[in-house]
Formats: sequence, C-alpha cells, structure tokens
Amino acid sequence: MIPYGRQDISEEDIKAVERVLRSDFLTQGPAIPAFEKAFCDYTGADHAVAVNSATSALHIACLALDLGPGDLLWTVPNTFVASANCAYYCGATADFVDIDPDTRNMDVGALEAKLEAAAQSGNLPKIVIPVHFAGQSCGMKAINELAKRYGFRVIEDASHAVGGSYLGDKVGNCQFSDVTIFSFHPVKIITTGEGGLALTNDPELAKRMALYRSHGVTRDTALMETAVAEPWYYEQVALGLNYRTTDLQAALGLSQMSRLDEFTLKRNELADAYDTLLSGLALGLPKRSESAYSAWHLYTVLISEPAERDVVFNKMREKGIGVNVHYIPVHLQPFYKKQGFKEGMFPVSEAHGRNVLTLPLHPNLSEAQQKYIAETLSEALS
Ligand SMILES: *Cc1c(COP(=O)(O)O)cnc(C)c1O
Repeated sequence: MIPYGRQDISEEDIKAVERVLRSDFLTQGPAIPAFEKAFCDYTGADHAVAVNSATSALHIACLALDLGPGDLLWTVPNTFVASANCAYYCGATADFVDIDPDTRNMDVGALEAKLEAAAQSGNLPKIVIPVHFAGQSCGMKAINELAKRYGFRVIEDASHAVGGSYLGDKVGNCQFSDVTIFSFHPVKIITTGEGGLALTNDPELAKRMALYRSHGVTRDTALMETAVAEPWYYEQVALGLNYRTTDLQAALGLSQMSRLDEFTLKRNELADAYDTLLSGLALGLPKRSESAYSAWHLYTVLISEPAERDVVFNKMREKGIGVNVHYIPVHLQPFYKKQGFKEGMFPVSEAHGRNVLTLPLHPNLSEAQQKYIAETLSEALS
C-alpha cells in the first residue's frame, strides 16, 4: 500500500538519537532547549515549549490562557478532533465556525457574523483556534483584527503547516496570534515519533505553558508563593501535567529540522505535479491562497457527482493506494453529538467531509507512483 503520509528518516537522524542514548540525559537534558531554540530561530518567535504531542500543546496553551468552566472555545469542524477537545479538557465548551469552500480554512466572514451575534447575546469565545488545513495558512491578519475588536485570544493550530509561510513570514512567528502549535506525528512534515511544540512571543505565556508541561512545579522564585532561597526548594503553584518530551525525540526533531525546507520544497513540487497530472479529470483540485506558501501536509481532491467518493475510495484502496479522508466533521462525532451538535449546522464542512479524498503525499513518493495514482484515479472516476 502506498501510504498517504510517511516519515523520512536519514542516517544522520539515527546517529543523532544514538548520541543521546550514549549521553547522560534521556530526558530533561540539553537536546530539548536546543530543539526549542532552533524553532525560535526558524520561525522568529521569541519562546518555544516542546511537549509530547500537539494535543498536549493545545491543552497547555488553553490552560495558560486561563480557559476554564463557563468559557467558550471556537474552532472549525474540518480538523482533527484534538483542536476542539482541548476546550473540554479545561472544563470549557467548544463551538464551531464553518469553513470557506475554496481554502477549506475558517471562513472569516462566518466568524465575523458569529462574533457579532455572540456579542449581542453575551457569549463571546475566550479562544479561537484557526486550523491551517493541509498546510496553507488561514487569513490570520483578518482573524487578528477580529480578536482585537471582540477581545478573544488566538491559538493557531499549525499541525499541518510546519515549514509554510504567510505573507512572506514563517508560520509560527505568532505575529497574528497568541500561540502557534505544531505536531511532529510521523505523518506530519517533520517527526519526533510523537511530539508537539507551542510558540509564543509573550514571556508570561511561555512561563505558564512550561509550568503546565511539568506538574505545575517550579524552581523559579519569581513564580513561587513563598520565596525560599534554599537550593533544594521547589513549589507546585498550579495543577500541571507531565507533557514533557524526551531528549531522544528532541534530538530526532533537531536533526529533522535541518531538512525541513527541503521537505517543504519537495511537497510543493509533488503538489504541482498532481495539479498537472489531474488537471483533465472531473475533480475539484486544491485552491491556492496568494498570501500563503503551503507546507502541503495533505493533497486533497473533491469528488463530485456522478462519481461517488466512497466508491472511488474503495477502488483506490483495492489498487494499493492509501487514500484517506480529512476530515469527518468534528461536530458529527458521537461525543460532539452528545454535546448537542447536529447534522446541518455547518453545511460547508459537511459537504467537504462527504466529497474529500486525500491522496498520498510524502517526500519519498516517486514520479512513477504519482503517475500510477493519477491513472488509477482516472479509472476509478469513469
Ligand atoms: C495531527 C493533528 C493534531 C494532533 O497532533 P498530535 O501531535 O498527534 O497530538 C492536532 N490538530 C491537527 C489539525 C492535526 O492534524
């Protein structure tokens, strides 16, 4: 089966992990701050907090922004469940904003209309999480203007967008958000096995996220309630978690980062090749935003009548092509239906969920494999 996503591990990556295995620290050692610094240098953000998954990064970002019971968090239905679940981890509630049918990202017009209505009824969100679907940045400038007008905080879920740019600057610089989070799951752009990272320009938020990453325990006297100078003294000042990553993973991530631009370039070339190979077929191809350079985590096509997505999906799988669906709208998951969400509430995301098909895309996909995928898709459609 040609997988829809796959990691690329070099001999250098393996050596980097091996060096950590032979060193003094498997966790809480020097590789983690080195990995964090490399991300600050790469994106231009001031602070980075590396954790054991993007899900954890979302959770500590919400905790650091004081999300709690009675609060609302808005995201899009066209995402992985983690973007919304972080609300419930904090005792808050999630709601959704539909997507734009072209970019498949949060529809800024729909966001503005929903904010206007929420301002009238007094239930504005505390946090909004735009998701950079498939690697292409959302319209962050407009979202940031709405954040200032309506007083909410912004976390960019950039799990798909490591290596991408927006308005000429790297995604992750937090110019238009409070926090940006990345995922390093093996299907994403670079990997640490499991792993995630939160970036911010706000030193207070960075300190708070670091605190929540590790039990709420600190040795920083500035964060303590009673300042005891003894070197053995530490305090638990909040209820944190153990979301730490390891030096093994940080070393792998740091080594992977040296090829991040190469991976992103290759993904862009593969996406261009798909555009050409598929141009004659009765398909909706991904539309490109002028403000963004996509990291191309996913290459998705839209299958419309008379062809049926599920028939095409099965035919592709039978031919050994690991197609996928991104995403089943989050609000239609049983957990979310129990919170009161229903079919029909977010029609653009729902139509997208019915028609979308994700084709394989990863740095080692060969020209021959891409041709085979295009030919098989052409047959499956007819
Ligand atoms: C993969 C993904 C996550 C979760 O990432 P993990 O590192 O697996 O926790 C969150 N949001 C989006 C949009 C993702 O694609």
